[in-house]
Amino acid sequence: MDRGLLHTVVMCSLRELHLLLTYRCTMECDHCFVWGSPQQAGVMTLEQMRQIFEQGQALGSVESVCFEGGEPFLYYGLLLEGVRQATARGWRTEVISNSYWATSPEDALLWLRALAQAGLDDLLVSDDTYHGTSEEALPRNATAAAEQIGIGRGTIAIREPAASTDAASSAKGEAIKGGSVRFRGRAASRLTSGLPRRPWRELVTCPHEELVSPIRVHVDPLGYVHLCQGLVMGNLFRTPLPEMLAAYVPERHPVCGPLLSGGPAALASAYALPHAACYVDECHMCYEMRDRLRQRFPEHLAPAQMYGVARQDAS
Ligand code: SF4
Repeated sequence: MDRGLLHTVVMCSLRELHLLLTYRCTMECDHCFVWGSPQQAGVMTLEQMRQIFEQGQALGSVESVCFEGGEPFLYYGLLLEGVRQATARGWRTEVISNSYWATSPEDALLWLRALAQAGLDDLLVSDDTYHGTSEEALPRNATAAAEQIGIGRGTIAIREPAASTDAASSAKGEAIKGGSVRFRGRAASRLTSGLPRRPWRELVTCPHEELVSPIRVHVDPLGYVHLCQGLVMGNLFRTPLPEMLAAYVPERHPVCGPLLSGGPAALASAYALPHAACYVDECHMCYEMRDRLRQRFPEHLAPAQMYGVARQDAS
């Protein structure tokens, strides 16, 4: 494809901004691919959020903002203002939460009313065994309250680990709203034991993320723009999003290039990385290879939080 045309495709394709307000969470789930944890710290500031929104607006293609984390309700004031500002820009808004705050139907209403007034369109709550069976009333309380006050609601239920992720419920490049575990982040280190594996030479594609013309990116409190969790296009506090996207040539990205040419197997071969004979799936191998390459490409494989390093500051 002509490079100018490719840039145009990238510029026009980005419809969703997913803001990781923080890596901190009330829980530490085994399947979490951003390593959310009470041990993590750092949060996006209001000024940073404003900058991200301005850059998103300058693209002209953004239609929606999803607030997530970590647990976005931990920074409720910022979340509220974020929903307000995104709505004022004409964007659809969504929040993903573990619903720790929905301690009763009445309390859930307390948290959601102001968000509804700010313009929140949709609430998605985690409701699966990873989030604990003792707290199963929480997602019910949250979704019932959302329904009562007219917020769209849904649940994210991730299935128990299986041999492969081929039955995932979301299409390539789209947000994950259920289905199989994706073996990235903590899931790659905690949930792969005992599962059937495939020879590494068969892992020749990136099956789940759109690395050429992404429709969504995740932006974290440090400004990193993620094509996949921990796989970074750039940092928008250093290079604004419109410039970053205009300059993005996927084939020249030191990690996306090999992934596009032949998946995680090509990534390992390109950098002569030591590897196992077999992996559960493409993401499992990709995540392990990327972790090995972090020191070499610190601006493209970041931040440390995405690779399991707990940070008590925002760096
Ligand atoms: S193969 Fe790598 S880049 Fe592609 S979805 Fe899996 S972890 Fe992400």
